[in-house]
Amino acid sequence: PVTPYPLDAPASEQLLGRARQVIPGGVNSPVRAFRSVGGTPRFMERAHGPWLWDADGRRYVDLVCSWGPMILGHAHPDVLAAVTQAAGEGFSFGTPTAREVALAEEIVSRVEPVEQVRLVNSGTEATMSALRLARGFTGRSVVVKFAGCYHGHVDALLAQAGSGVATFALPDSAGVPQSAAGETVVLPYNDVPALEQLFAERGDQIAAVITEAAPGNMGVVPPEPGFTDALRRVTLEHDALLISDEVMTGFRCSRAGWFGLEGMPQGGAPDLFTFGKVMGGGFPTAAFGGRAEVMAMLAPEGPVYQAGTLSGNPVASAAGLATLQACTDQTYRRLDQVSQALAGAVTESFTRHGIPHRIQWAGSMFSVFFREGAVRSYTDAQAQDQERFARFFHAMLRRGVHLPPSCYEAWFVSAAHGDEAVEVAIAAIEDSAAEVA
Ligand code: PMP
Repeated sequence: PVTPYPLDAPASEQLLGRARQVIPGGVNSPVRAFRSVGGTPRFMERAHGPWLWDADGRRYVDLVCSWGPMILGHAHPDVLAAVTQAAGEGFSFGTPTAREVALAEEIVSRVEPVEQVRLVNSGTEATMSALRLARGFTGRSVVVKFAGCYHGHVDALLAQAGSGVATFALPDSAGVPQSAAGETVVLPYNDVPALEQLFAERGDQIAAVITEAAPGNMGVVPPEPGFTDALRRVTLEHDALLISDEVMTGFRCSRAGWFGLEGMPQGGAPDLFTFGKVMGGGFPTAAFGGRAEVMAMLAPEGPVYQAGTLSGNPVASAAGLATLQACTDQTYRRLDQVSQALAGAVTESFTRHGIPHRIQWAGSMFSVFFREGAVRSYTDAQAQDQERFARFFHAMLRRGVHLPPSCYEAWFVSAAHGDEAVEVAIAAIEDSAAEVA
């Protein structure tokens, strides 16, 4: 058995005290606050490969990977070299640069239906801009989303969202005007009859359906066979756009994201895609893109306005390009191996200790539900033992494994998770299962 770290974390506690004075809740993104699992978030000082080191000098296997971007592990030498080179040539020019063109070319070359992209600074900006574009293109205002899907903190998309909104059990957010939320219809995920009924009633008002390509923000709940086809069929029948949000799955589930795994939906590709996380390699860059005919509606070509002082930033673009270029077939094989090893350990230990659980997959992306039986929707995902998850989370943390601090999140691995990191994680899973049984 591993000797656990002490329960307290003095250096992080001290930093959190300082942070709370000047930052609401002491964090710059709510899911970092440990609110649903309790305790003090660990302030990290540095990271390398699969490892994080906190302010108390303790080492952790990182299973958050910055919530997805660090697919190559931390401080990958190719990415570090590209960033250093780019930074040495200046940080931001406010003019077009070759680096952003190269990053756009790389994305377009990987995801076949994407003919053009616009680079932005976060996944939120990508989905927000894709919605505006879809509304501008169709001249309609209603947007359809699915319960449990998170698309960033866009007003129109915060209704029944997953991720932090689910973690804090908020139905929606305060501060979103009724006029914004009123244009959003939320449907249960994987429910084709509900989709067909809505379109039969209001099809001519609907600008777009936005979906996570394979949801990861209510835990991993992949589309059932035929669901993506149905989304495509129904939107085409009613001249609405289909937006596939690949911020989490993009370049992680395969070279071409979830699209590369599931293949072309019957009826054709989604009209728009959104990307983030991996394509920025840990820097704030993201994108939305799709058919050239739709993208031509964007300023300066067309009437839909969208802009950004730092969009296409050369340092961020260099990081993203170097990351994508280093994602080889071997990278994806290693992600599979690491995920299989960790999920296998969970199955074995949880079964041995009689802990109800369910593991679900989208490619190498997986999550562990603290319940039994298939999870098809947000309602299913909510019916899990959150209290036991919280205890498991802390048991793992004390054994040097940093999980996402919520049972609604995927466990993210990297290709830098070598044998030692995997062994530490597996030993921690076994001991932690015994502790929470
Ligand atoms: N879409 C999806 C599918 C996401 O997972 C996220 C972030 N977890 C976002 C959009 C928002 O991205 P960001 O946090 O960069 O704004």
